[in-house]
Amino acid sequence: MINIKYLLAIVFSSMFFFVSFQGIAQKVKIDGIIERAEALSHFKFLASDELKGRDPERPEIDIAAYYIANQFEKYGAIPLSSLNAYYQYVPFVASSPPTVGELKWKGSKFKHGEDLLVLGGNDLSGDFEMVVAGYGFEDDYADKNVKGKWVVVRVGAPNRLTPTELFKAGREKQALAKSKGAIGLIEMYNVPTTPWRMLVNYLNKSQLALDLDPNKHDDLPYLWMKDLKGEIIKSIASGKNEISIDIKGKKNRKIKGRNVVAVIEGTDPQLKDEYVMLSAHYDHLGITKPNAEGDSIYNGARDNAVGTAALIQAANYFGEHPPKRSILLCAWTAEEKGLLGSSYFADNPPLPLKDIVFNLNIDNGGYNDTSLVTIIGLGRSSVDHLISVAAEDYGLEAIADPSPEQGLYDRSDNVNFAKKGIPAPTFSLGFTAFDQEIGKYYHQVSDQVDNFDLDYAIKYWKTYILSAENIANNLEKPVWKSGDKYEEASNALYGIGN
Ligand SMILES: [Zn+2]
Repeated sequence: MINIKYLLAIVFSSMFFFVSFQGIAQKVKIDGIIERAEALSHFKFLASDELKGRDPERPEIDIAAYYIANQFEKYGAIPLSSLNAYYQYVPFVASSPPTVGELKWKGSKFKHGEDLLVLGGNDLSGDFEMVVAGYGFEDDYADKNVKGKWVVVRVGAPNRLTPTELFKAGREKQALAKSKGAIGLIEMYNVPTTPWRMLVNYLNKSQLALDLDPNKHDDLPYLWMKDLKGEIIKSIASGKNEISIDIKGKKNRKIKGRNVVAVIEGTDPQLKDEYVMLSAHYDHLGITKPNAEGDSIYNGARDNAVGTAALIQAANYFGEHPPKRSILLCAWTAEEKGLLGSSYFADNPPLPLKDIVFNLNIDNGGYNDTSLVTIIGLGRSSVDHLISVAAEDYGLEAIADPSPEQGLYDRSDNVNFAKKGIPAPTFSLGFTAFDQEIGKYYHQVSDQVDNFDLDYAIKYWKTYILSAENIANNLEKPVWKSGDKYEEASNALYGIGN
C-alpha cells in the first residue's frame, strides 16, 4: 500500500501543475487582450477633472455612464434583453434642507437641525393629528385608521439598526404609510449606537435618495425627531397627539440616474443560464471647496475609477474569450450616497436574482501594499480559492479583510446582493490596515491617477479578470461556507433544501 503522505504529495503536486499550466495559458490570453495604453486610457478618462468627480447630482456623471456603455458595446457586450438598452434608469430625488422646519407639540418647539430633521416632502404648514403605529410595518397598522393623519413610529426595527438599515427601513415605511392614506411620517430616533449629533451633521445638507414614486410630485412629508428615551412617542400614544408643523424653503429635484448593465453570453449550453456578476460603482463625491493648491475635484481614481476600469477591461477580455457561464457587467451609480444604485437593482432586478450565482464586486478606498490584493469576504464562499490562485498567477497574494472592525463587507454594493443570498466578495487593492497611507487619499481630492502605481493597476485588473474567469468556468456552482450569516437567504433564493 502506498504511503498516504506520498500519495497526497503526488495528488497535490499534480493539482499544482494543473492549476499553474492552466493559469499560464489563461495569462497568455489575458496579456494578449489587455493592452497597457488602452487599459490606462479608460482609467484616466474616468478619473479626469472633466467628469467633475462623477457626482450623481451633476450632469457630468451621465458622460461617465455613456462612456462605460459605449466601451461595453465596443467590446461586444450586449444589453440585457429586458432592459433593451445599456441603462437601468434609477429614479432619485435630490433634496435640500428647508430654511424653516418647526414642529410644535404640547407647548415645546422642535427645530430642524437641532432636535428635528426634515428628510422628505414639500413645504407645508398646519395643525395635524398623529397616530402611533409601532415600527411602522404592516402588522403595526392592524385596526388603525391613519387616513389624513400623521403616523408616528420608532426608527428602524429591532434587528435593523445600522444607519444603512435605518434608511432602507425608512423607505419601506414611507411607502407603506402613504399606501395607508397617511399624510406624513415621523420616525422617533432612539438608536444609541449612532449619536443624534452625527446624524444631524450628515443629514442636514443636500441629500440624494431613491424616489419611491417617480411619477408623482406629492412626496410624503418625512421627519426624524430626537426621542432618545422614548418618552415622546409614549406620550403621543397616550393621547397627546396634536401637532402643528411649519416647513418652508424645501427644494426637491427629480433626477434620472443610471446603472450601466451589459451581458456577455456564456459558451456552455447549460451553464450560460447562470450569471457571474462583475460590478463596480462608478460614481464618486463630486466637487468641494478648493484646497490650498486650488484643487476642488474628487477624482476618485482609487474610489472607484480603478474598479470601473476593471469592468471595462473585463468586457474587453470576455468579449473575445467568453467563459462557460454568462458574464453580467454592472456599473452602479450613487454608491457614495448610500449604495443606492445597487440597492435599486437588487430590489428591481431586470433578470431573476436566482440566475446570478456569484457577484465579484470591486470597490476601493486605497492601497498600501502592492504585493497584495485584499478580498473583503475572502473565504466565505466555496470558490474563493480560485481568486487566491489567480492572484498567485500574477505574483500577488490574496488576503482577507484586515480591518473587520471597519465593517467593509457591509459597506459596499456587494452587501445588497449578499443579503439576497448571492455570494458577493469585494475585490480591493492591497491594503493591510486602514492606516495613514490609505487616509492620504481616501475621500480626498488627492485621489488621482498621477499618484497611482500604474504597473500595479495593470496587474490588479488582470488578476480580477483571471479570478472572474476561474469562477465563471468552474463547474460547481458557488455556495456560501456553511454557517455564514447570509446562508439562509441563499437557501431561500436558490431553493436549496426545499
Ligand atoms: Zn467611497
